[in-house]
Order: sequence, then C-alpha cells, then structure tokens
Amino acid sequence: MLDQAALHALLLDSLEEQIAVIDREGTIVYVNRAWTTFGLENGLALASAGTGGNYLAVCSVSGSRGDSLAGEAEEGILDVLAGKRATFHFEYPCHSPTEKRWFMMRAAPLHGDAESLFVISHHNITQRKLAEEQIEYLSLHDPLTGLANRRHFNRFLGEEWRRSLRNRSPLSFVMFDLDHFKDYNDDLGHLAGDQCLVEVGQILRMIAGRPDDMAVRYGGEEFGLLLGNTSLEDAAKIAEAVRQKIHELDIRYSGTRRMTVSAGVYSVIPDSDRKETSLVREADKALYLAKQQGRNRIACA
Ligand code: GH3
Ligand code: MG
Ligand code: MG
Repeated sequence: MLDQAALHALLLDSLEEQIAVIDREGTIVYVNRAWTTFGLENGLALASAGTGGNYLAVCSVSGSRGDSLAGEAEEGILDVLAGKRATFHFEYPCHSPTEKRWFMMRAAPLHGDAESLFVISHHNITQRKLAEEQIEYLSLHDPLTGLANRRHFNRFLGEEWRRSLRNRSPLSFVMFDLDHFKDYNDDLGHLAGDQCLVEVGQILRMIAGRPDDMAVRYGGEEFGLLLGNTSLEDAAKIAEAVRQKIHELDIRYSGTRRMTVSAGVYSVIPDSDRKETSLVREADKALYLAKQQGRNRIACA
C-alpha cells in the first residue's frame, strides 16, 4: 500500500491541470507532471519555469517583451501575494502554430499555508472557447447565405458611423430587393428560391471585400451593402455592378422571366445631428423609387 504522501504526489501527477506552488517571492517550490510536460512541449526554459525558477520573473520578462497578457497575469498574482484579493482567475489565448488553445489561470493561497505559499494552476478551456466562438458566429450570421445578419450589421454600422464621423468621410449604403421574388417562389418552389438567395449572397460577399465594407442579409429577399469611405457616385457604380452580375446569373422562371434586382443608394458624411439609422431609411426610400420606376435598376436618394 502507498502511504498518503506518495498517493498525493501520484494524484497531482495524474491531473491534466498544470499546477505549481510558489512562495511570496514567486520562486517555484513545486510543479506537477502536467506543468513540466507543458513546458517541454512548448519550449519553455525549465530553468525559469521549473522548480527553483521564478514564476513572476517569467511573467515579467514576457510582459516587458510586449506580451500584455503576461503583464496582466503578473499583476493579478501580485495582488493575491499581497492579500489584495482572495483569488485571481484569468482566461487567455495561447495558440500554438498548429492549433487554437485557450487556458484559464488561477492564483490562490495554498490552503493551510496561506501566508507563505500560493498555488498557480492552468487548465485548458479550449473546448468551451471554441463552442463560444461557434455560438457567437451563429448569432451574427444568416444560416442560409452565411452573410452578416441584422444584429451583426447594426453593430458594425454603429462602429462605421462613428469612424466616418471622426474622419469626415462618406459612408454609403445600398439596399437591394429581388424583383417579383414571390412569383419566383410560386413558380419554382421555396427550395429553388433559397438557392437564388445563396447565389445573390455570394455576389454580395465578393463585392464587399474591404474591411470597412459589409454585406448583410437584411430580411427575406432584401440585402444590404455598407461601403465605408465611399462616395455616392462610387456606391452607385458598385450597386450597378451587383445588378448586372445578378442579371448575368440568368436565372429564369415562369418560362422566359429573368430574376432581377432593384437597389436604392444613399451616401452621407455623418454629422452628430443625425443617427446611423437614417442611412438605411434613405436607401430604403431610394429602393422604393427604383421599384416604382420599373425595377431591375438602381436609384439614388
Ligand atoms: P417586389 O418586386 O415588389 O419586391 O416583389 P416581391 O414579390 O419580391 O415582393 P414581396 O414582398 O411580395 O415578396 C417577397 C417574397 O420573398 C415572398 C417570400 O416568399 C420570399 N422570401 C422571403 N424570404 C425568403 C426565403 O428565405 N426563402 C425563399 N425561398 N423565399 C423567401
Ligand atoms: Mg422585399
Ligand atoms: Mg422583392
């Protein structure tokens, strides 16, 4: 039979969690097997991150090299050492060249010897972070076309509006609406209609290539294109290019009818008296004009 001390040592070495015990100065007095293995696999110098090394110094060196996360971690640990807070929890990314990873670090006094010893532990929270990323993605994108949804768009519009306000640069928005789409669905069914929407979405995604552009599925068969730092004239050219590309898809229904799109274009240099929603409202009015004027065309407000 193992004695208790041996059992505890083996138990600590069996955990996935990386555990170290440090003293008040940050000197590492104990590490478990997972801690050592992680260090070896990730090229950390055992002289500094193993027993006898100084963990605060490791954080401090990384912090001074520009790793702001290491700096934050050091501050949190120092707070625990000074008794300013009971525990410190810290989530951080630690991506390797081949995989995305995140860890949670915890610093807390060693139970029973809270004055002089402290436990630092790291555990892998990658599965949770990946699930959170996926949920975040789903909450911001339209599942059919993969474009941004309204929630994502509204957030982005607010940011772009404020940026354009600061830079005094024009911000343009184009609202697209497929023509007679109800007839298309009635003739070929909703699945064919969905396929149409996917193809239109692909065109818009291609066109919205710059970081300050965004294509959005605004509603059922309505799409939007936000164009940062773009004049009315250039936005109209882009809207016309989209109209032509959709025309060139040559999607037919009811015998000879061709699927087309109408678009309303609006551009503004934001000022603080206006709200960003005015951009969408005015583009919508222009879209109404394009429909009135016969569809398969663009109109500017
Ligand atoms: P207009 O030229 O005036 O825009 O005519 P419209 O028929 O396109 O306009 P209306 O608003 O009458 O009809 C919109 C149609 O879009 C009706 C609806 O079935 C279809 N639609 C909306 N969302 C989807 C979708 O997700 N999938 C499919 N297949 N159809 C959709
Ligand atoms: Mg519509
Ligand atoms: Mg329509």
